[in-house]
Amino acid sequence: MNAAKAQSKDFLLAVEGLTVSFDGFKAVDDLSFYLDPKEIRVIIGPNGAGKTTVLDLICGKTKATSGSIKFDGKELTRLKEHQIVHSGVGRKFQTPSVFEDLTVFENLEVSYPQGHSVMGALAFKRSAEVVAAVEDVAETIFLKDALEQPASLLSHGQKQWLEIGMLLIQKPDLLMLDEPVAGMSVAERKKTAELLRRITKDHTVLVIEHDMQFVGDIADRVTVMHQGKVLSEGSIEHVKSDPKVIEVYLGH
Ligand code: ADP
Ligand code: MG
Repeated sequence: MNAAKAQSKDFLLAVEGLTVSFDGFKAVDDLSFYLDPKEIRVIIGPNGAGKTTVLDLICGKTKATSGSIKFDGKELTRLKEHQIVHSGVGRKFQTPSVFEDLTVFENLEVSYPQGHSVMGALAFKRSAEVVAAVEDVAETIFLKDALEQPASLLSHGQKQWLEIGMLLIQKPDLLMLDEPVAGMSVAERKKTAELLRRITKDHTVLVIEHDMQFVGDIADRVTVMHQGKVLSEGSIEHVKSDPKVIEVYLGH
């Protein structure tokens, strides 16, 4: 194996030269970044920097104009959205989309990945397995005591956690979250930071966020985007004191 190959194998996600052009406007422009397994990376940057578009590209919602997205050694730019989900990438959108009329339990249950032909004889075993998985995830997302509540009665923050739970139950290797603490109280933000810290035992997490307190609480490393490119990257201390970042983002 050559050196480049050996290196690329160590990353869970390697984004290289990624570009997407909308009618000539490059929303993402020759972007490269690399995620280690079990890392929490936060992408920050001004509105319109291309952050959400990066998640759209990784999950296959938007097709890249050029460049490469290697996930666990697989080239994602050639795959369809459902194939990308199957390969272990889960993505949460900005607004929560839980099923309001279902209970917390049912929301998690319907998100549990279904196998192929389930025989009657296996049904009981299977449901016990689902119940165990639902309870385990409910504990992680602070909703163990709310399992029988309809989702419509949850607070905005609890709905966000439920939606994270609906992804977790599918056991993605990479979990991507777009502004997960927007609209949350300070207490809920703290708990969300704890939630994300907990799940990195089994997951790599890519988060877009503006709240710098929250970013500092969770990030292993921060990537700052501006005009579709990486403006700065490193520890929270590094990017916070980078004059380029202060000029285009933090100073505003
Ligand atoms: P951010 O999440 O950093 O605020 P976005 O990724 O949403 O930024 O958008 C980056 C830029 O790309 C914006 O100027 C936006 O208007 C543009 N853009 C995003 N998606 C599309 C699209 N599907 N078609 C055209 N322009 C788009
Ligand atoms: Mg966005």
